[in-house]
Amino acid sequence: MNILIVGGGLSGILVSAELRKHGIPHQVAHPLTDFSGTGASSGILNPVMGRKYTQVPHWELLWPACEAAYRHLEQLLQVPLLNPAVILKRHSSEDDAVFWQQRVQAVSDYLSDATVPELAMAWQLDTPYSYGVTQHAFQLHSHRLQKAYLALLAAEGNLIENSVPERNQNEDPSGPISFNDTAFTHIIFCEGRNTLNRPEWAFLPLSVNKGQALVVDFEAALPRNGIIKCGKELTLCPYGDRYWWAGASFEWKFDTDGPTDVFREQTLQRIQQYTSIPFRILESLSGFRVSAQDRTAVAGWHPKKKQFGILNALGTKGVLQAPHAAKALVNTLLAGKFIHNPFALERFRSS
Ligand SMILES: Cc1cc2nc3c(=O)[nH]c(=O)nc-3n(C[C@H](O)[C@H](O)[C@H](O)COP(=O)(O)OP(=O)(O)OC[C@H]3O[C@@H](n4cnc5c(N)ncnc54)[C@H](O)[C@@H]3O)c2cc1C
Repeated sequence: MNILIVGGGLSGILVSAELRKHGIPHQVAHPLTDFSGTGASSGILNPVMGRKYTQVPHWELLWPACEAAYRHLEQLLQVPLLNPAVILKRHSSEDDAVFWQQRVQAVSDYLSDATVPELAMAWQLDTPYSYGVTQHAFQLHSHRLQKAYLALLAAEGNLIENSVPERNQNEDPSGPISFNDTAFTHIIFCEGRNTLNRPEWAFLPLSVNKGQALVVDFEAALPRNGIIKCGKELTLCPYGDRYWWAGASFEWKFDTDGPTDVFREQTLQRIQQYTSIPFRILESLSGFRVSAQDRTAVAGWHPKKKQFGILNALGTKGVLQAPHAAKALVNTLLAGKFIHNPFALERFRSS
C-alpha cells in the first residue's frame, strides 16, 4: 500500500497520523498558499452546543478519541497542543440569562452561573445580566499542530508542496494513481472546500461557509485558560503563547476568499465595545467550513471507485470529529469491508 493524502489541514493530518500508527506508507500533498479552515480556526472543543446549550451529540464517544489522538501528536511533535479551558459567556439580555439558568440545571456537569467571575474582571467586561461559565472545555492549537506536522512530513520527505489536479474522468478507476512521479494504491481526499469541485464526490450534500478572524495583541496579562464569548458576534481565545484570536464571521455569500476590511473594522469595533483594554491587530485570517446536510463529518470510501477515500465536512466541530472519523476511515481500509460508524458516507448513497 502507498497512499496519497490530498490536503494537509486537520483532516489530512489526522488521517496521516492514523496511517503512521499502522506503519502504512503515505505522502501528503499540500499547497502552502491556500486559505484553509485549519489555519483560521480557534480550535475550541466545547462539550455544550452553542445555541441550545445541550450536550454535544456523541461527546462521550468522540472526546476520548480526541484526547488520545492530540496527546499522541503532542508526544510525536514535542509541542503543547491541547489545553483545558473555561468558557465565559457574557449574557446580553435578561432572556439570555434566564435561558442559561434553566440549562444549568439540565447540563450541570458542564454549565454554571457566575455573577462577576475573575475572568470578567481580568477582561474589564461589564453586563447588567450576569455571566455563564462552561467547564471542561478544551482548546486545540490547530495552526501550531498544522505547522509542526507539515514540518515533520517535510523532514521525512513525505510532503508534496503542490496541488493535486482534477482527475481525468476517462482514466481506468481501478488503475494505479500517479502523482509527482510516484504510483499510489489509494488516494484520500482531505481537501476541504475543493472537494466541491470534484465530480467523484458530487453525490455528497456539502456546503461551504467562509469564516474570518483576527489575531490580536492585548496590552494586559490575561488568563491563558479563558475563552470569552460576547454575544454571537465575538469570541476571544488564546492564539499561541501570547496573542488572542478574535472572531468569527459565518458568511454563506462572499465575493473574495481572503480577509476583508469590513470584517476587520467590525471586529475592531466589537472588541472596543466590550473591553477597554488597548490592543493592536496583528493579522487577518480567513478560511472555510465545509458541512454536510446533517452537520456530521463524512469519512469513508467511494461506492464505485474503491481506491478513493475521503474525510471532509468537519463543519464547526472539526477538532472534535476529526480523530474518530480518521480512525473509522483507516479501520475500514485495514478491514477491507464496511464497518458501521457515525461518519460513514453510506448514509448518503441511497438518497
Ligand atoms: C474561522 C473558523 C473558526 C473555526 N473554529 C473552530 C473551532 O473553534 N472548533 C472546531 O472544532 N472547528 C472550528 N472550525 C472548523 C475547523 O477548523 C474545520 O472544520 C477544519 O479545520 C477543517 O479541516 P480540513 O482539513 O477538513 O479542511 P482545511 O483545513 O480547509 O484543509 C484542507 C486543505 O486542503 C488543501 N487542498 C485543497 N485542494 C487541494 C489539492 N487539490 N491538492 C492538495 N491540497 C489541497 C488546502 O490547501 C487546505 O489546506 C473553524 C473554522 C473557521 C474557518
